[in-house]
Amino acid sequence: VPFVDLIGHAAQLALLRSRLAQDHLHHAYFFHGPDGVGKRTVALSLAMALQCSERRHDFCAECSDCKRVQDGNHPDVRVISPAGGKKEITVGQIRDVEKELRFRPFDGKKRTLMIDPAPLMNVLAQNALLKTLEEPPADSVLILIGEAAGGILPTLLSRCFRLAFGPLGEREIEDFLVERQGMERVQAKGLSHLAMGSLGKALALAGGPLLGKRKLWIEWVRSLSGGGRREAVSLAERLAGEREEVIEFLAWLQSWCRDILVFGVKGPCDQIYHADAIADLERFARVWGRDRLFRLLAQIERARSGIQRNVNRRLALEHVFLSAVERD
Ligand SMILES: [Zn+2]
Repeated sequence: VPFVDLIGHAAQLALLRSRLAQDHLHHAYFFHGPDGVGKRTVALSLAMALQCSERRHDFCAECSDCKRVQDGNHPDVRVISPAGGKKEITVGQIRDVEKELRFRPFDGKKRTLMIDPAPLMNVLAQNALLKTLEEPPADSVLILIGEAAGGILPTLLSRCFRLAFGPLGEREIEDFLVERQGMERVQAKGLSHLAMGSLGKALALAGGPLLGKRKLWIEWVRSLSGGGRREAVSLAERLAGEREEVIEFLAWLQSWCRDILVFGVKGPCDQIYHADAIADLERFARVWGRDRLFRLLAQIERARSGIQRNVNRRLALEHVFLSAVERD
């Protein structure tokens, strides 16, 4: 898959490609942005473009050079991450890199070093890297990768060209799931909405038990319709255990409520994310009125931002469920 086949990030790719074509890449980059949007894929693509024996200023992903980059055993392409089981990138790892940098690349092309995630370098490691960057070797490109700049020395960052990678569009993710993963359009639409701009998350959700979970979640939420305070409290207690699961659930509930609203106004239409669960949506639309849905959506929004800040999950969920059992 050459550059034109990568998903999203058109401006970032255009910039890198034009630098590549002029043989004028920066010595060091900092690729930052949310997890799962493709920062590492872009970095690896750039590395392949520097090594590919089939294409100029691009890559084929199929020649032996490209394959070796992908498999992690090209001598001029190195990804540095915390070593097995460790929580940080150590100064020893950076020193090993330094040693390599003193020699010319094996095949006379440029060498690529990726540090991912860069914020996991400890301070010693960062200082060692800083020294290297004071006299950057002309035949190397260094790419730091991380969600945000927090944890990286400002002196180090100031020597890097910063490139921000935003969340992907829902449509970009949806098309990817349909065209490359062979997923049904209705399912891809629902997943792309839940993925929150991350292709990595979309793929994890696609491979995971989300669709099975959704059946269960629909049952739980439906049990609230006929219930009261007690059901709301006990459901909150049952769900609150796993932080990731709560976040996933709330994202689903938000898209579910939104779909019920859309269904209520327009009936079945192509703006519905969970189009493969239309019968369930219809049942909810008969019971849950607009007031209840708007109230719920407001509470979900509050709970989601609260949970990002680590508020008590059970209480946050209780507020959500209580607003669901309140009569219209
Ligand atoms: Zn190639």
